[in-house]
Amino acid sequence: MKALVYEGPGRKSWTDVPEPTIQHPTDVIVKMVATTICGTDLHILKGDVPAVQPGRVLGHEGIGVITEVGSGVTRLTVGDRVILACVSACGSCSYCVQGMYSHCRSPEGAEGIGWIFGHLIDGTQAEYVRVPFAETSVHLVPDGVTDAEGILLSDILPTGFEIGVQYGQVKPGDVVAVVGAGPVGLSVVMTAQLYGPSRVIAIDLDDARLARARSFGATDTVNSGAADWREQVMAMTDGLGVDVAIEAVGIPATFTMCLDMIRPGGRVANVGVHGTGVELPLDRLWIENIAITTGLVNTSTLGMLLKLVAQKKLPAEAFVTHEFSFDQMLEAYDVFANAAEHDALKVLIH
Ligand code: NAD
Ligand code: ZN
Repeated sequence: MKALVYEGPGRKSWTDVPEPTIQHPTDVIVKMVATTICGTDLHILKGDVPAVQPGRVLGHEGIGVITEVGSGVTRLTVGDRVILACVSACGSCSYCVQGMYSHCRSPEGAEGIGWIFGHLIDGTQAEYVRVPFAETSVHLVPDGVTDAEGILLSDILPTGFEIGVQYGQVKPGDVVAVVGAGPVGLSVVMTAQLYGPSRVIAIDLDDARLARARSFGATDTVNSGAADWREQVMAMTDGLGVDVAIEAVGIPATFTMCLDMIRPGGRVANVGVHGTGVELPLDRLWIENIAITTGLVNTSTLGMLLKLVAQKKLPAEAFVTHEFSFDQMLEAYDVFANAAEHDALKVLIH
């Protein structure tokens, strides 16, 4: 079969690899129908994620049809159309029991991490994939849910909702600022609406992304390239700052922006993946009663978000700007890696 293989920093290929086989009774094999590319795949290709070994098939998002089930699988059958969660959950370790699948202790995740597809085991940018712990890691696709809607459920919508909106404890009437209007920031903008904030302010350097943020439900936008970006944000609050600031970029400057606009008693939820340390000015912040949260997505809300998508309460298909076939995988990478040039958000490969 064909798959997108990581060949070491800066190198990848769409090449022939052996088809996966059942290795454990709880595995299923899935023929991929749709997959996509995540910013994290680009981090891996830069060599930023050393746990990914050359030869690894990338990808942790996808929809497919089950073609084979392990002997221990009773609730799934051949022919089922399923969404694969980006985080695999054994369902029985101490973390899985509390719903924190991101830290599943199964040996597949080297006993400590639930994100294994395209990281510690072969991933979803392939014609077939082995799915461990299938009964606790896949969701049946309801009738009427398209590939373009379903693909957002693997990672992007749960990430924005769980690590941004839920950890940030967005409440009715809150003024919420989201720094970064990429797929993750826009999923925060979209799912924050579920809690009735009074304003959602999208902040980015790219005016095209800000325009898209408005179409996703942002009430206000601020280009942070402006010298007075903070004054603009303060003018949208009572002058004290925002109730919730959500970081969805992953660099020190944008985390600091969150600290600079949060009100006393507010909440800063960091979603971005950081490659370097960030200065924390506790000498100024200790007296401000601020909560700061971090996290890797659990995908514990995937089923709930899928219901909302199926009922057309969340217009998930709006994320997909470009479509490709599997044999155009390298072209899809090129467009996604140069998103600004192509005005790309999410690419659907199906
Ligand atoms: P992206 O690169 O597509 O979007 C980032 C956005 O930030 C872009 O629109 C860019 O213009 C904007 N930006 C860059 N520098 C800025 C600045 N100085 N000020 C304001 N805006 C700026 O990324 P994405 O796919 O949306 O992902 C966002 C982050 O979330 C990444 O770090 C990604 O790795 C991370 N992520 C985290 C998890 C998790 O579980 N915590 C899961 C998936 C992705
Ligand atoms: Zn577990």
